[in-house]
Amino acid sequence: MDESLPVRRASLQAKVGHVAVGGGAPVVVQSMTNTDTADVTATVAQVRALADAGSELVRITVNNEESAAAVPIIHEKLLAQNCGVPLVGDFHYNGHTLLNDYPEMAEALAKYRINPGNVGFADKQDKQFAMMIEAAIKYNKPVRIGVNWGSLDQAMLARVLDENAKLATPKSLNEVSREALVRSAVESASRAVEIGMRPEQILLSCKVSRVQDLIAVYRELGGRCNYALHLGLTEAGMGSKGIVASTAALSVLLQEGIGDTIRISLTPEPNGDRTKEVQVAQEILQSMGLRSFTPQVTACPGCGRTTSTVFQELADKIQTYLRNQMPVWKEKYSGVETMNVAVMGCIVNGPGESKHANIGISLPGTGETPSAPVFVDGKKTVTLRGENIAEEFQAIVDNYVKTTYAKTENKHVA
Ligand code: SF4
Repeated sequence: MDESLPVRRASLQAKVGHVAVGGGAPVVVQSMTNTDTADVTATVAQVRALADAGSELVRITVNNEESAAAVPIIHEKLLAQNCGVPLVGDFHYNGHTLLNDYPEMAEALAKYRINPGNVGFADKQDKQFAMMIEAAIKYNKPVRIGVNWGSLDQAMLARVLDENAKLATPKSLNEVSREALVRSAVESASRAVEIGMRPEQILLSCKVSRVQDLIAVYRELGGRCNYALHLGLTEAGMGSKGIVASTAALSVLLQEGIGDTIRISLTPEPNGDRTKEVQVAQEILQSMGLRSFTPQVTACPGCGRTTSTVFQELADKIQTYLRNQMPVWKEKYSGVETMNVAVMGCIVNGPGESKHANIGISLPGTGETPSAPVFVDGKKTVTLRGENIAEEFQAIVDNYVKTTYAKTENKHVA
């Protein structure tokens, strides 16, 4: 047990299909499709891609009758392809009607996401929220009560603003909005329990788009309830901005033990790869030592001591190779996801860092002897030279995986 790892906040455990969330279970990675759910072919393909990339739950929007009708077909097609990833239905405005009118959809989904700010207005709000909770109880499905900064329940906000105005020292609008978010989630959960929902079937989220707000909101939310929490910075943005902002916010909270499932809400580039959000989520958890998904490459940044691109190319080649091998390796080898491979640019830190990895290679820097010592479990085993260093190093990695991580039953196979 690594004592530097955070102590997880105590929470109830929900079962979303076969996936346990909260209650000490490993932090779950989830994602969301951006296809039209009514387009069965496109949605099945994207759910598959996200699941193959490592998404353990996949959310799909269910926004109209066509989408609702498509859900059970999507579910069947995925099962036929041996893809059992639990599907989560994302409902806004008309979820109460769709869940009532499309029982096969209600059955096929593993969880319903309900946004209390978007279930209806005025006197319809309570009734329609209750209808969704009753559907969840009827089909024995957990719910995520997901509050969002952009669709905050306006009646709740008005109530908290009124209370604030009566204070001797009123809080800022930002603080009031955060309080309204947290209360909307917690009070909606209490209402669901009153209706008959089992508390362990409830997950909560309060998504905002600014890092400091997210941290403040989740600290508050985590302290006020023991429901499992879904973490994510909403509308994180594109490219490195979205990745960095999400990582900054989630790392602080995860380090405080807050968060049972995460999603990275990246805006893909046009025609970009949707699975990037899964990779980033995994990398956050693995970098923090919370979970292991794929072998990691430790590579130095390079500097004036290494003027060729050889080591950058080798680091990239090995990282890509390791990621691509994982679907096969994880079936045959156990613990391979914890392997660390070092690819270093010169002798300054190369041998030292390589010795700390399971396998390391220290490439020659500018002016150094053109040889690359390889270290396996801290010991120098061979020195590579010539044109085929990359291929030879890859073969060493392959051999290490086969001899170190083979499952017991595979070790005896000739
Ligand atoms: S290991 Fe060598 S090449 Fe890499 S950053 Fe350090 S000094 Fe530069």
